Amino acid sequence: MTRVAVVTGGTRGIGRAICEALRDAGYDVASNYAGNDEAAQKFEAETGLKSYKFDVADYDACQAGIDQIVADKGPVDILVNNAGITRDGTLMRMSRKEWDEVIDTNLGSCFNMAHATFPSMRERNFGRIINIGSINGQAGQYGQVNYAAAKSGIHGFTKALAQEGARYNITVNAIAPGYVDTDMVAAVPANVLEKIVAQVPVGRLGHADEIARGVMFFAADEATFVTGSTMSINGGQHMY
Ligand code: NDP
Repeated sequence: MTRVAVVTGGTRGIGRAICEALRDAGYDVASNYAGNDEAAQKFEAETGLKSYKFDVADYDACQAGIDQIVADKGPVDILVNNAGITRDGTLMRMSRKEWDEVIDTNLGSCFNMAHATFPSMRERNFGRIINIGSINGQAGQYGQVNYAAAKSGIHGFTKALAQEGARYNITVNAIAPGYVDTDMVAAVPANVLEKIVAQVPVGRLGHADEIARGVMFFAADEATFVTGSTMSINGGQHMY
């Protein structure tokens, strides 16, 4: 049986690496993105996978997006909540809008997407939900009260939903990546990045495929006894 996997924010960066790893392992993969059509077209052409455009912060859009994916591919077995954004600034400078955007996109999306997929996983007595948190949700980060709160929330969401899914063979786990060389990190000023890399024992940024390896572990049919767990993949930067 071919498992159907959905990866939010799958057209770029870490999400794209996750899509490719799942595809290579034989999963039927649906990707998602917000608005960058050019990146999505490049993704489709280079990976042979289809991407679905909808805003994961929008509850109704997630329901409609999942309905379309189910119509195209069948029920969702694996959900990877990967889509995320930053709107950095110190508390004093952060607007309420920047707070809401990050909370809604990074954390609200996990609720929206789980709500659209969990009932069918329960009925079919199988599911794998993998949420992408962050080292900054574990350790905090200057200028990121919105992002750190959302990512920290993901870790709590994971542990709570794991308890609800356990009796239905639905596992819910999280990955907390350290700094990875994607577009998101390219936005960090070079002098700040230099200081961050100096704190990483392995002495470099991570690569997206190194995060995808963790997702593959949690996604496996065989990973039946691991749930409510957070895997840190950060080059030793934060040992939790
Ligand atoms: P990128 O910025 O490289 O890619 C983000 C992806 O998410 C894009 O596909 C983007 O779509 C999509 N996306 C953004 N907002 C939405 C939305 N509202 N609805 C649907 N899709 C959306 O991010 P990364 O690959 O760097 O990060 C992936 C995840 O990993 C994020 O959750 C991030 O917080 C987390 N993370 C990243 C780290 C890093 O160092 N890079 C470290 C720790 C965690 P579009 O192209 O249309 O904009």
